[in-house]
Amino acid sequence: MQSTTMSSAGVSATVCRRQGGFKAAMRGQAVAQQHHARAGRSSLRVVARDFPKPDFEKEKTFQEMAAISAAVKAAPRPKEPLTVVIAGAGLAGLSTAKYLVDAGHKPIVLEARDVLGGKVAAWKDEDGDWYETGLHIFFGAYPNLMNLFKELNIEDRLQWKQHSMIFAVRDSPGEFSRFDFPDLPAPLNGIVAILRNNQMLSWPEKIQFALGLLPAIVYGQPYVEAQDDKTVTEWMVKQGVPARVNDEVFIAMAKALNFIDPDELSMICVLIALNRFLQERHGSKMAFLDGCPPERLCQPMVDYVTARGGEVRMKAGIKNIELNEDGSVKQYNLLSGESITADLYVSAVPVDIFKRLLPAPWYQQQFFSKLDKLVGVPVINIHIWFDRKLTTVDHLLFSRSPLLSVYADMSTTCREYFDTERSMLELVFAPAEKWIGRPDEEIIAATMKELENLFPTEIAADGSKAQIRKYKVVKTPLGVYKTVPECEPCRPTQRTPTRNFYLAGDYTKQRYLASMEGATFSGKLCAQAIAEDWNTSAVKPSQPAKEKALA
Ligand SMILES: Cc1cc2nc3c(=O)[nH]c(=O)nc-3n(C[C@H](O)[C@H](O)[C@H](O)COP(=O)(O)OP(=O)(O)OC[C@H]3O[C@@H](n4cnc5c(N)ncnc54)[C@H](O)[C@@H]3O)c2cc1C
Repeated sequence: MQSTTMSSAGVSATVCRRQGGFKAAMRGQAVAQQHHARAGRSSLRVVARDFPKPDFEKEKTFQEMAAISAAVKAAPRPKEPLTVVIAGAGLAGLSTAKYLVDAGHKPIVLEARDVLGGKVAAWKDEDGDWYETGLHIFFGAYPNLMNLFKELNIEDRLQWKQHSMIFAVRDSPGEFSRFDFPDLPAPLNGIVAILRNNQMLSWPEKIQFALGLLPAIVYGQPYVEAQDDKTVTEWMVKQGVPARVNDEVFIAMAKALNFIDPDELSMICVLIALNRFLQERHGSKMAFLDGCPPERLCQPMVDYVTARGGEVRMKAGIKNIELNEDGSVKQYNLLSGESITADLYVSAVPVDIFKRLLPAPWYQQQFFSKLDKLVGVPVINIHIWFDRKLTTVDHLLFSRSPLLSVYADMSTTCREYFDTERSMLELVFAPAEKWIGRPDEEIIAATMKELENLFPTEIAADGSKAQIRKYKVVKTPLGVYKTVPECEPCRPTQRTPTRNFYLAGDYTKQRYLASMEGATFSGKLCAQAIAEDWNTSAVKPSQPAKEKALA
């Protein structure tokens, strides 16, 4: 199937059975079929199928990141392991700890909450069902995470889906438009996917968009970085790209990338994503984790670290950072009243929290004061458990609705949440600025109105069709930093001007966006910087700076 509309998986499934030629296009899509249950009521049966793990090991980026992992492991062993205290057990803090034990050190991770993972944290409700901080998607273009899964021997926990991007069709309730990537080298696969979809963009629009992107292709990274002074909408106007391209594609993309609209989002964000998606054969392939991230991804990191002499302490929030007279860190003071001293200190807390912990003397330095520009964006993650199986797709969907960003039927996409009888939709509600303070009931009512459009035959906002069994609303008032123009120069490196203090976190400088990949990479870069600075040093970090300089 070249063209790409499907009204719903149920209807498509019927078409598929009637016309064998559609079969290939439906591969990997959960097929919800009407059949009659014993009680005589119509119910749905879902067939979900994962796709093989892509062979991204051949990609240059995967190999580059594998080389950094290997270099950290092969770094000369320190005379004695340094104790490194890390604040925060999100992916950045855990990644720092993982690569620090690889480099021969002893990390102690201090996490404020009783749950691992930070923005990938999840909880079990009273029925034993998981609910999460965010619907999380892993991309083929995440070479650090892919290396990490391999290093932890948990690659089989990623459920790869068909190489497609699926968008709801505006003004055609219940219809979806697909970009199906053929198995060809990049960027040919992306070009073919775009050219084959004639539903969202006309030929003249595609051509004008391609011409607009030409400088990014010709001039590469320097051009991409220079676009940080414009929003996506401003860039479109400057490049003569029709406004409809913005409306059809970039509102959905901006909301998915940073939970804001294209008239706020910096163009650098879109270009970084496009660059990776279009340059790597498997870059835009998506995978779901097979269960909740704290258990399926964070716990193996903790096990790895503790098996090698590190520690992870929960409910151990940092209250403040106490300094020595020379401005270096003396100790972390905990909310419990305890103080922790170490050879080195790392902050892997989110940027908004780090700014609150920032000692006043450090604020005099531009390295730290420029962090003022980085401010978390509000986002809401919604889970609705329905009393029946909805017609569904085994993939992530771009809702293109005013209030929602992406969503997925987790009862189909994710092994641990799998349910053939009843759907659980997980939806990202964004932009959420005007909604973050509103009651859950209002947010759910607004979501149901949007869902009416996405599931016209199955969901009615008044609840007269599919019934809500229960819901959970998880609000994150300060999520990833809001990537408005001119943020890029404010992202700090993992090395700081303070000799015994380092940073990790998705907001810190690395070539990926604020994402799981960015967080993981920042932790690895942090551990690498520590290994480079101290593994061969003749002095200890506790000795004055000039002695280190002489060493
Ligand atoms: C709704 C949503 C959807 C998302 N979807 C995706 C996606 O599909 N793909 C993707 O790649 N990324 C996605 N992200 C982004 C991704 O989750 C984050 O970029 C990443 O997890 C951030 O990791 P981090 O370690 O830098 O920070 P965090 O995860 O925020 O970790 C910081 C940790 O520090 C702890 N902490 C805070 N204060 C203290 C203190 N005083 N003392 C000790 N510890 C403290 C916190 O409790 C937390 O555990 C999404 C985010 C959200 C919110």
